[in-house]
Amino acid sequence: MSTPESQLSILLDDPGRSALLSDIDGTLCRIVDRPENARVPAKATKSLDVLCERLGLVACVTGRPALVGRSMVGAEGVTYFGNHGLELLRPGDEQPEIRLDSEQVDRAARFIADNDSPVWVEAKIRLEDKGPIQALHWRGAGPRTEALVRQIADHAIAVDLTAHWGRKVLELRPPDMEGKAGAVERLLAANGFETVVFAGDDKTDLEAVRRLQEMRDMGQIPNLLVVAVGSSEGPEELFERADVLVTESDEWIALIARLAAHDA
Ligand SMILES: [Mg+2]
Repeated sequence: MSTPESQLSILLDDPGRSALLSDIDGTLCRIVDRPENARVPAKATKSLDVLCERLGLVACVTGRPALVGRSMVGAEGVTYFGNHGLELLRPGDEQPEIRLDSEQVDRAARFIADNDSPVWVEAKIRLEDKGPIQALHWRGAGPRTEALVRQIADHAIAVDLTAHWGRKVLELRPPDMEGKAGAVERLLAANGFETVVFAGDDKTDLEAVRRLQEMRDMGQIPNLLVVAVGSSEGPEELFERADVLVTESDEWIALIARLAAHDA
C-alpha cells in the first residue's frame, strides 16, 4: 500500500531536480490565537536544514513577511517567499527582493491608518502589519466582530483594495497581487523541476495548488504531490485536490522528518 511517507519519497528519486514547498502557519506550526505566539517546532527546522542540502529547492511560501518567515522557521538554506509572494528572500540574502510597484506598497497600511478606530480594539480585532498586506485577526472573538470585519472589508474593496479571507483573518492587499499562485510559478518556472511537493492548509494555498495542478496538466511539472493539513476552517476544495491529507501540522512535520532521515 502506498503510504504518505512512500509518496513523499519521490522527492529523493532525483533530489537535485526536486522542490519541496511549504506554507508556514497551520502547516509547519499550529495556528494560535495571536500570530506572534506561533512557534515552528525545532524538529521541522532540523529536517528542513537537512533537506536543503539534498533537494534542488526547499522553500516556504507564506503570508508573513519573508524575514519573519525565516526567523520563525530558522532554516538558513530555505528560500522564503513572503507576503504571499511579494517578497523573495534567498538563502544568505539580508533583505528580501520586493516585487511590487512602489505606490502600491503602503496602500493597505494607509487604509488602516485612516480607518482604525477604538471600536476595533473593543471588538478584539488584532492588527498585524505585514508591510504591503495588513491583516485583521479575530480568532476568539464572536459573530459581532466578524460582522464588523465584513464591513471593514466592504469599505476596503470600495477604495480598490482586495480582501482575502483566511482562517479567522482578513487580509487587505493591494490590487493585482497574484498571491501564492504567482509565487510558486515564479519559483518553479525557470528551474525545470521534475518533482514538486507542496503543502498548505488555507485558501491562499488553494490558489497555489490550482496553479501547480495546471502546470502539471500542461506537462511543466511531471510529478506533483499536494499535501493538505485538514481543519474545519480550511477550504474544502484544497482537501479535495490534495493527494495526501494530514490532520495537523505535527503530522506534516513528522513526514518531513522521516524524509530527512531517509538514506541518501
Ligand atoms: Mg497557512
